[in-house]
Amino acid sequence: MQVQKDGTMSIRVLSPEVVAKIAAGEVVERPVSVAKELLENALDAGADDIRIEIVEGGRRLIRVSDNGCGIPAAEVELAVARHATSKLSSAEDLYRVRTLGFRGEALASIAAVSRLTLSTCAVGEEVGTLLRLEGGAIVAREPQARAPGTMVQVENLFYNTPARLKFLRADSTEAGHVARLAMSYALAYPEKRLTLQNDGRLVMRTPGTNKLYDVLITLYGLDVAEQMLEVASPDADELPIRVWGYIGAPSLHRSNRHDLIFFVNRRWIQDNSLAYAVTEAYRTLLPMGRHPMAVLNIALPTEDVDVNIHPTKREVRFRQEREVFAIVQRAVRAKLMAQHAVPGMTIPITPSGGQRQPYSAGVGLSAAEQARLALDVQRTADVPPLAGANLARSLVTRPQATERLPMLRVLGQIGQTYIIAEGPGGMYLIDQHAAHERIRYEELKTQKAHQEVAAQELLDALPIELTPEQAGMLEAHLDVFTSYGFEIIPFGGSTFLVKRVPVNLIGQDILAAIAELLDAALQGGATFSWEEQALITLSCHTAVRAGQTLSLEEMRDLTRQLERTLLPHTCPHGRPTVIHLSQAQLEKEFGRR
Ligand code: ADP
Ligand code: MG
Repeated sequence: MQVQKDGTMSIRVLSPEVVAKIAAGEVVERPVSVAKELLENALDAGADDIRIEIVEGGRRLIRVSDNGCGIPAAEVELAVARHATSKLSSAEDLYRVRTLGFRGEALASIAAVSRLTLSTCAVGEEVGTLLRLEGGAIVAREPQARAPGTMVQVENLFYNTPARLKFLRADSTEAGHVARLAMSYALAYPEKRLTLQNDGRLVMRTPGTNKLYDVLITLYGLDVAEQMLEVASPDADELPIRVWGYIGAPSLHRSNRHDLIFFVNRRWIQDNSLAYAVTEAYRTLLPMGRHPMAVLNIALPTEDVDVNIHPTKREVRFRQEREVFAIVQRAVRAKLMAQHAVPGMTIPITPSGGQRQPYSAGVGLSAAEQARLALDVQRTADVPPLAGANLARSLVTRPQATERLPMLRVLGQIGQTYIIAEGPGGMYLIDQHAAHERIRYEELKTQKAHQEVAAQELLDALPIELTPEQAGMLEAHLDVFTSYGFEIIPFGGSTFLVKRVPVNLIGQDILAAIAELLDAALQGGATFSWEEQALITLSCHTAVRAGQTLSLEEMRDLTRQLERTLLPHTCPHGRPTVIHLSQAQLEKEFGRR
């Protein structure tokens, strides 16, 4: 830095090397960024057999080999030059990008911060080319005999940018990120054979059968794959947006959102709003704070999605954002609802405990390879939760799942809150409020669908004093209140008279229930209708509370009713209604085994 006598710095044009390093910083953050760019290039080149190898988390080596179209000998230098691409020619092309790459900067950026070797042979050419670069400068070039296709090898990543190097995490963490990348692309491209090797060990190999289900089995194992539900949006005429893929049954819930995987026009993207839209579709089906699994493809015209938001191309912008989210959410919700109508659906009884998923290795792996994979899983304990081979293991435990509750024999009550019962599978604890909420919810929903919510006139009309905001909301939603059996009439200003209420609200705090309904309406669920919200609120207000003493008869009644609900294992808010301690668990705890 040159500081003048008066304290200012003189302005100078940066050297090409500095410019390259700054630009590289945008694209190449860590080994997985390199793997992603190279993998995308291989896919763009039309390869159907792609191998990714990493050593020491990618810090020492990242190598991607493909059997794609290759690079003509005359263009090899161009391929590693900045802003040189074969995929775009004009600015308009940016609005109809069909390839994964288009910025023409990945190879140049990676080369700037590593020792890069490019070996390639174009289809139709006799001789290929070998090119070596160090810190972005070409240090060797020679003809090379090889099969058509390309191999890019990146060694000593960040050797010349020590600051970056310092930010890298443990090898296993970096390897985990690469594994997640490979898995995601394997899911998006089931027609490709994708292989990942980590420190010489095979981590993943997909069969390339063009069946997403086969990839699911390879990555997650048969046990999980069997709990995945196929989703496809109906062909919408108005909007050319299609959604397809697999979603996890509610039994596959997870502790984070990592297994919500999205592709837009076959590009792996990150989108919190989409993740939220899908999670919302599982409302009331998952325990609180848990997240579903989903692998969803979204296809829409290239001009309706902007992929040029960020150098890493991980984010996109939709022209019709809301429509896209709505279509995705509807497709997911419709599948979940259809599924629940069918008996035999699997639902977890306990949110924790039970057996761990056996690790299930890839399709087509030999027994020896499977054994090595299993070992690998044990070794890489600090791989991020969803990474690679660890993935199948880290799934939520799932006890013997049956849709309905078995017949239970009520034994008593604990803390005036939990019902203790015995069933064929051991001991059951039922949260009386959560369970009753579920019962009320389904009861009310059915009654409402048949327009026969049981209601009762109040002996004395009940005046209710509202804020102007609440009053406006009530007037706007009077029809919904009516459909739930309320009769509420204006009484001047912000005062109303409640004349009739749903029968189950009798004896409860009617005013509090109405106020809460209005507050729910005011907060406005972004994706869930207020009617759904109203249903949940009313279920809560008409359910027995915790701390209420129940007679044996009442408890039996409640348990019978819970057994008959469609989704007995969660309350409408998503909390568990039942905790199950199996006979085996009891025996284990008491040291009988
Ligand atoms: P972009 O992918 O945005 O075009 P890159 O820097 O990643 O930019 O690649 C530059 C060019 O090199 C590509 O446009 C392509 O023509 C060529 N190329 C890179 N990798 C491969 C590959 N694996 N197979 C064939 N061509 C490749
Ligand atoms: Mg590229």
